[in-house]
Amino acid sequence: MPNLLIQNISQIASPKPGVYRGPELRSLNIYENVAIYISDGMIKAVGPISEVMEQVEGHPVILDAEGKSAVPGFVDSHSHLVFGGNRADEFAMRSAGMSYEEIAEKGGGIVSTVEATRNASKEELKNLARIRLQKALKQGITTMEIKSGYGLDPETERKMLEVIHELKEEQPIELIATFLGAHAVPKHSSKEEYMEEVLAVIPEIAGLAEYCDVFCEKGYFTVEEARKVLEKGIEHGLKPKLHTNQFNDIGGVEMAIELGAVSVDHLEVLSDEDVQRLSRSETIATILPGVSYFLNIPYSPARKLLDAGALVSLATDFNPGSSMTISMQLLMSMACTKMGMAVEEALCCSTQNGAKALEKNKLGVIAPGFQADMLLLDTDNYKDLAYFFGENHVHTVIKKGAKVWELRG
Ligand SMILES: [Zn+2]
Repeated sequence: MPNLLIQNISQIASPKPGVYRGPELRSLNIYENVAIYISDGMIKAVGPISEVMEQVEGHPVILDAEGKSAVPGFVDSHSHLVFGGNRADEFAMRSAGMSYEEIAEKGGGIVSTVEATRNASKEELKNLARIRLQKALKQGITTMEIKSGYGLDPETERKMLEVIHELKEEQPIELIATFLGAHAVPKHSSKEEYMEEVLAVIPEIAGLAEYCDVFCEKGYFTVEEARKVLEKGIEHGLKPKLHTNQFNDIGGVEMAIELGAVSVDHLEVLSDEDVQRLSRSETIATILPGVSYFLNIPYSPARKLLDAGALVSLATDFNPGSSMTISMQLLMSMACTKMGMAVEEALCCSTQNGAKALEKNKLGVIAPGFQADMLLLDTDNYKDLAYFFGENHVHTVIKKGAKVWELRG
């Protein structure tokens, strides 16, 4: 891969390396009128052009940023991007005033996604996912976690994980796979039967995923059932994550921290005790404001978590039923207006902290020694990401030092 020199960057805004929590999240590293030198996909130098030139070897490719600003590529640490079907009609029914029960009677809800995902061939699922990944890339996502969980049978769960695995090689976004077999109990199956299936399939799919996740919620999986699945995952090298506290607090956070979960995700309903628990732990609180917006439910108490010193990340939860967005920029805006986050915190939580939620410590920062994943924005001020909302500010996407997408004017 040729080396790359990016010149004429008006402003770089980046989280400070290694700053993951506390008041320091509000102070970014800001550089003005600088250049970046990238070699072998890694950032070698950042600073005034004269200083950066001293590090340059050979004849790098030159990219003129023409006064654009730069931020790290977004790291979306929670998504359900692989699924069959489309639930736009369901959204329209809901918007027109139809109740959840009426929509379910018409075949809507997660059941419809499960059916469509089971019926789709691997190639069809891959094609749908590829189109969505292209949209995510345009929006500046350079690393993304994707969960299984719309198969609810061993065969389809495996198919979903294989799709993620194959897409890793076929497109530029770095993908991380999570097994979410325990997402819901499939129709025509008892909880006990399905739990057995999930536990039995973990050793077989362990090579296709990095993490194991469970939907811990009333009517889905209890804390004890979730613990069983996560422990089985740990036995087979899958680190735990947990969907918890979305509608009810049934004790998922405490259990997840005890198991050393990498993250607990959702947290719309969160007690002060759990805020304190999280602030004392290394488990990341992953906040999903797209869900609160889309379902019109309360937002997670992100301000409380940040003030208590907890680790917080922001993610899309991109999925057809409760958060049909791939825009981290829109989430940053929601984080500021709906959850009291500072723009700088929102940026840190969407980049370096998202990377922490995926245990990637060379991502999410623009500084020497980090992987060269970055975005050139069509503005000279990173604050526009949250301020000018509903707009895509990404002009150029760079992944591992290569230009992988550019707005064509
Ligand atoms: Zn989710």
